[in-house]
Amino acid sequence: NISQELPVIRQLDDAAINRIAAGEVVERPASAVKELVENAIDAGSRRIEIAYGDGGKTLIRITDDGCGITEEQLPLALSRHATSKIDGSDLLDIHTFGFRGEALPSLGAVGRLSITSRVGKASAAQISVEGGAMSAVKPAALSGGTIVELRDLFYATPARLKFMRSDRAEAQAITDVVKRLAMAEPFVGFTLRDVTGGGEGRVTFRVEAENGDLFDALHGRLARILGKEFAENALKIDAEREGLRLIGYAALPTYSRGSSVAQYLFVNGRPVKDKLLVGALRGAYFDYLSRDRHPAAALFIDCDPHLVDVNVHPAKSEVRFRDPGLARGLIVSSLRHALAEAGHRASTTVAG
Ligand code: ADP
Ligand code: MG
Repeated sequence: NISQELPVIRQLDDAAINRIAAGEVVERPASAVKELVENAIDAGSRRIEIAYGDGGKTLIRITDDGCGITEEQLPLALSRHATSKIDGSDLLDIHTFGFRGEALPSLGAVGRLSITSRVGKASAAQISVEGGAMSAVKPAALSGGTIVELRDLFYATPARLKFMRSDRAEAQAITDVVKRLAMAEPFVGFTLRDVTGGGEGRVTFRVEAENGDLFDALHGRLARILGKEFAENALKIDAEREGLRLIGYAALPTYSRGSSVAQYLFVNGRPVKDKLLVGALRGAYFDYLSRDRHPAAALFIDCDPHLVDVNVHPAKSEVRFRDPGLARGLIVSSLRHALAEAGHRASTTVAG
């Protein structure tokens, strides 16, 4: 029909672009918490406090003691595709959680966001953004580090708001995210606080920074998060093959579970849900567990960033290994080795 109006192609404005990006990066309060805590970790923080109100729907506040953001850089932190973490020349050389420069502008498009920060002895400053409009930078009071406050998440996108679950369910998802990140950062202290209704609120989870060497620290942290029983039944894993290092703790087959809830996998510090790695874990226990039992483990693969592509998905829980067979083989063989040794130790003990 010739009389029909021709479609007109228009350039979207920044606010619309940020809202669309937010749809991918920020699904629910827990995803906002993940982005903000990852930023705090990237900033070298030793202590991170996370406060939330009403399941994170009305308030998410992350307080860290990291490097901070200078007054001049505050507007840039809120700008799209602005990041201090990569220069864009080598997308395979990523050593930080962040690199897209998308989280803060996205959060600023779907909630009321403010950042207060202080670098060293310079004076503290604050910037805020609401409905995509950035405020001027104002002087503020803060002894150091950064406070990011996100209020009324999704107030600007009512469709999203409708998809949120109960405060309880959202708080649970926040807790899961924080615990996962805390497992991978044993030398960082984390406090999670429910401040629904205002005031100091109630601490719902706290772990102090661990001491000792990496394995001591990791074992201590896992004991605090997964429980003493896991820690007592856990075999230490420490293996390396062709540039891939695997460390962590895997539980004895007798400590298996009825579901895969107790499987925690990390690649270069990132919590991942990766079919290949889950399959490898299952394969390692194949001879020890019946089909309906699932091993419990917290495993960390670390490698040169060039050996794994973390650029697969904005939520970044998938990864792609350059050599998937190598990753799988490393997990299967080192876990089998540890299980066989433990079995051998157990049988020789019984034999006297
Ligand atoms: P990305 O993490 O991908 O770089 P973000 O939008 O999450 O993008 O953050 C933009 C920039 O703001 C970061 O690159 C970093 O320089 C700065 N930034 C964000 N959060 C913090 C923080 N808690 N402490 C110090 N700097 C931060
Ligand atoms: Mg980030």
